[in-house]
Amino acid sequence: MPLKYREQVERLHALERELSARIEREARETLGDEGRLDADSEERAVQLGHLEADDRIAETAQLELRQVRAALMRHASGAYGRCASCEAKIPVARLEAVPFAIHCVACAERLRAS
Ligand SMILES: [Zn+2]
Repeated sequence: MPLKYREQVERLHALERELSARIEREARETLGDEGRLDADSEERAVQLGHLEADDRIAETAQLELRQVRAALMRHASGAYGRCASCEAKIPVARLEAVPFAIHCVACAERLRAS
């Protein structure tokens, strides 16, 4: 595999570690916050609002982690850097922007539109 692709795989591994750590940290913080909920109902509503915002961040991180893992699985099967739909080579520039991309730009746009 060319060096440029290997570099992206390294970034994927780093991203996987970072996202896993972030999700774990947020889960811990969320649980911690719930233990400190205010008895006052108005305060409580504000706190719950924050918790929901945290959940959305965690959801985004989880979605990204799934994509990162899918890309690493493509790498494990020797298909990283090739489009999962049409098998075209994914340009390094695209992987530099989105290291977990498993579709070429054309297929990604087609999938988004459908
Ligand atoms: Zn494609």
